[in-house]
Amino acid sequence: MSWEEGDLHGRHVSAAALARTAITWTPERPHGQVRIRDYTCECRPVVYELCQSGGVTFIRKMTRKGKEATIEEYITRSGVEVHTVWRRLLDLA
Ligand SMILES: [Zn+2]
Repeated sequence: MSWEEGDLHGRHVSAAALARTAITWTPERPHGQVRIRDYTCECRPVVYELCQSGGVTFIRKMTRKGKEATIEEYITRSGVEVHTVWRRLLDLA
């Protein structure tokens, strides 16, 4: 099934939101068990996920290119800040 067949799109990150948030992405680091709390629509080549591992909240950015995916993350000491950035990314704040 392709995304074009239905109205099953999730949320998208706009270029404007991305420019506004100016996130510095770092290469993915190993985490324990990761829970995905929220995510963006998979129709785009770049998918963002709001993740939690232990007490740490971070945003994962997956850039797909063919069958490969580059994974980067945005992680700070402040989970509140990560949530704020997530809301900005999705134009919720
Ligand atoms: Zn979509």
